[in-house]
Amino acid sequence: MNEIGNCRSRTGIIFSEYFLLHRTGRNHPESPARLQAIIRGIKHLNLLKNKRCVLIKPRIAKLDELEMVHSLRYIRAVRNLCNSGGGILDEETGTLVSPESYAVARLAAGGAIRAVDMVMEGKLRNAFVISRPPGHHASRASASGFCIFNNVALAAKRLIDKFSLSRILILDVDVHHGNGTQEIFYDTDEVLYISLHEDPSEFPRSGFIDEVGKGKGKGYTVNIPLPFGASDPAYWKAFKSVVVPIVLCYKPEFILVSAGFDGYFKDPIGELLLSASLYLKVFQVIIDLAHRLSGNRLVAVLEGGYCPSFLKKIVPAVLSRMMNMEAKVTEHRPRFSITIHKIAEKIIKEVKEIQSRFWNL
Ligand SMILES: [Zn+2]
Repeated sequence: MNEIGNCRSRTGIIFSEYFLLHRTGRNHPESPARLQAIIRGIKHLNLLKNKRCVLIKPRIAKLDELEMVHSLRYIRAVRNLCNSGGGILDEETGTLVSPESYAVARLAAGGAIRAVDMVMEGKLRNAFVISRPPGHHASRASASGFCIFNNVALAAKRLIDKFSLSRILILDVDVHHGNGTQEIFYDTDEVLYISLHEDPSEFPRSGFIDEVGKGKGKGYTVNIPLPFGASDPAYWKAFKSVVVPIVLCYKPEFILVSAGFDGYFKDPIGELLLSASLYLKVFQVIIDLAHRLSGNRLVAVLEGGYCPSFLKKIVPAVLSRMMNMEAKVTEHRPRFSITIHKIAEKIIKEVKEIQSRFWNL
């Protein structure tokens, strides 16, 4: 591992082999193979030998850190289930734990906390937390959608509590709505939560356009639900015409990305038809926004993405861009449906109408 003292211009890769020890059983899509593929991709590009990059070990999140977001009762329930040999945390979504999962989930949470600490302390330029289990479906007192502790929410809370930030953007590009993250920050203006996702009617049944926050948080939740089968042009239009103008208005002090890659057209779970080049284009805009608005303070935290051969390609490419290096991805384009595109355009128009009550769109 490189020296940490010399890292302020470097991109941190937060990773530990321990993340592979959370076992979900045979044929479960959220498997250790996802991270193994990413690490193979990183090695293939020789990123760890590059001076612009540094491998950082995560640390275990302390109990009181987890309590920034989760109830003690829930944390103990996770611990007890793992200590008794593991089992099902949430039946409906197939959220399972093995005996090691409590420690591994705390390590994933601690990895996200460590990443924001190091960026804030000027020890890293930006960072990508390559961890599992993912987090954005985990709410204050329940697990869901393969998520146990909400890593990105814990990172945001850390920025508020330790570093007194009050304008944090969480941009959720996972194909599913981050119901846990939305719930945790629904009534605050200190976190702007923006999510682009597929139709959430079946799962997680939140993330509709009229969910905009409440109380002080009104206007600080932005949901863009795209119809099943929507592809690059609709996603790009939503991103450029809704996400970017709102972020420019908000002027975040820190950008956190819930980096899910399950909108990819070959993903076995996601129902959008996005390409690798769309993801790269979106991340480049996020990197540029962080440069322009947040002093480059950007941390991406891995969420979903269940096509290991795609993760192997896209995560190292995004990392290269975060390191200010060229990265290209080539592939066949997913199919495009004009009918679905028109439905998507109508939804984007409705989102703009609703959000223009709060933002200059
Ligand atoms: Zn997802």
